[in-house]
Amino acid sequence: MAQRYPINEIFQTIQGEGLFTGVPAIFVRLQGCDVGCPWCDTQHTWTVSPDRETNLNQVTDKSDTSDAWANATTAEILNEFIRLGYQANHVVITGGEPCMYDLRELTQALAVQGYQSQIETSGTYEVLVDDAAFVTVSPKVKMKGGLVVRPDALLRANEIKHPVATEKDIDALDALLAQCKWTTPPQVCLQPISQKTRATQLAMETCIARNWRLSIQTHKYLGID
Ligand code: SF4
Repeated sequence: MAQRYPINEIFQTIQGEGLFTGVPAIFVRLQGCDVGCPWCDTQHTWTVSPDRETNLNQVTDKSDTSDAWANATTAEILNEFIRLGYQANHVVITGGEPCMYDLRELTQALAVQGYQSQIETSGTYEVLVDDAAFVTVSPKVKMKGGLVVRPDALLRANEIKHPVATEKDIDALDALLAQCKWTTPPQVCLQPISQKTRATQLAMETCIARNWRLSIQTHKYLGID
């Protein structure tokens, strides 16, 4: 039987952060997350409530942040891209926590259809994706859900995108990086939290000292999703 994925929303925009900043992208947001970040701005995705299930066309291009979700197959998701006339060939699978689900079928189908897939994950679940998928781990350490960041998720990462407010965040990242021995190390991007001046200064100085990248949440400046 074809696998189904709980879809919170599908929309087309510009990737606003990380290495693919500025790239037109179709975002597929999956419902469900038990990581429990206190600052989470997508809390409407946390719970997959049976009584909030709806049709796929109700969650594509939706303008609100409701917890409604649709249970869709890979074929139905790809058909939605075509029905909506989307042109982007970069697909960001986000959440929620998308790695709560086995993403191999979806990412393999995307690759076959000529899409580049990018997974945005907290690193607290095993990353089950096509070999060609680009994996962005934004490690969530000591969150309320009590999950740990998995070394195997960090090892699969192509990019580690880390929010920074103070030196403690750099120390936490260093502790995570020390757990892993990569053959091809991922690109590390530091992302100042909430565009704060001190966080931005610290992130810039650290990126320069270590040859890392600065990730700015450009979509927040542009006022887009
Ligand atoms: S992992 Fe993402 S979706 Fe889940 S609580 Fe944290 S920020 Fe929110």
